[in-house]
Amino acid sequence: MTYNTNRRKTKNIRIGNISIGGDAPVAVQSMLCTDTHDAEACLAQTTALVDAGCDIVRLAVPDREAAKTFAFLKEHGVTIPLVADIHFDYRIALEAAACGADKIRINPGNIGDDDRVRAVVNACREHGLPIRIGVNSGSLEKHILAKYGAPTAEALAESAMYHAALLEKFDFTNIVISIKASTVREMIRANRILADKCDYPLHLGVTEAGTAHMGTVKSAAGIGALLCDGIGDTIRVSLTADPVEEVKEAHNILRALELEETGINVVSCPTCGRTQIPLIDMVKEFESRVAKGDVKTDRCLRVAMMGCIVNGPGEAREADIGIAGGKDEAVLFRHGEIVKKIPAAAAVDTLVDEINALMR
Ligand code: SF4
Repeated sequence: MTYNTNRRKTKNIRIGNISIGGDAPVAVQSMLCTDTHDAEACLAQTTALVDAGCDIVRLAVPDREAAKTFAFLKEHGVTIPLVADIHFDYRIALEAAACGADKIRINPGNIGDDDRVRAVVNACREHGLPIRIGVNSGSLEKHILAKYGAPTAEALAESAMYHAALLEKFDFTNIVISIKASTVREMIRANRILADKCDYPLHLGVTEAGTAHMGTVKSAAGIGALLCDGIGDTIRVSLTADPVEEVKEAHNILRALELEETGINVVSCPTCGRTQIPLIDMVKEFESRVAKGDVKTDRCLRVAMMGCIVNGPGEAREADIGIAGGKDEAVLFRHGEIVKKIPAAAAVDTLVDEINALMR
């Protein structure tokens, strides 16, 4: 794995059968958009997310009845860690813990007096569950808002530490924190401030990011900037779209930063007046073959698809393997060195075969 060598040192936290923080790879998570009372629908969407490569699935739990879906999912073979997302009512957290949730997302400052916080802490301790504190700009505590006058990055970080202190009071440190701000810049700033103040693993995401295209752009900017700083242990790309898209885009962000253990990172040129092959269609074809599983990789591979033989191999010298097109023909190259000439019409097939041969 190509890995960020300056990654922030964080506590390693166990969530079901995976861990986050410490040396664990950055985990991809998503959230079901099915009605949590509809256990069958939740099972179907969880299965789709697992197939897409999701590591952690979160469910909104609006009442105690909905908590029973955790038991249903576990009874039906779901092994991926499940997170119960709870607002305000500590009794739902107790129910979710008893029904098999692997993590509880709740803000201790929002559930009432110490006895309630202690009850949630005890239940999580008994079942070995971490708690995720989730701070966002729309729900800052009045005393913090009064101090800062607005939901600034400093205010958000202080709110996160305030909630953590309420758990630490009961010697509970099995904690993950997320801070989501309404703008990308504030989200980045708030997480940087928080990263300096604690060693809890951080869950990164840009909230209300938007539809698939713009939401992905905002998420890539916010999550990507922090991952480049070595900050971030689990990520969620929030999109107004099918959650399977969230998982795909989260993996794309990790792949772009070379934080993925396996998969294809396509490097392709924008084409120009020198291009004599239908490169755009060829890249689409290659990506669809990757999506279909025609290409087998046991590591992260940089694959170049370039528009011309003159500049392509040199421009894509960093790629593990690639093709560059000429007039009616193409060349296959490795690390910038041309290996052989191939007919342009067979270039994508040859590329797929050569990658699979590399993996044998
Ligand atoms: S690789 Fe060749 S075709 Fe592609 S942009 Fe560069 S010069 Fe143009």
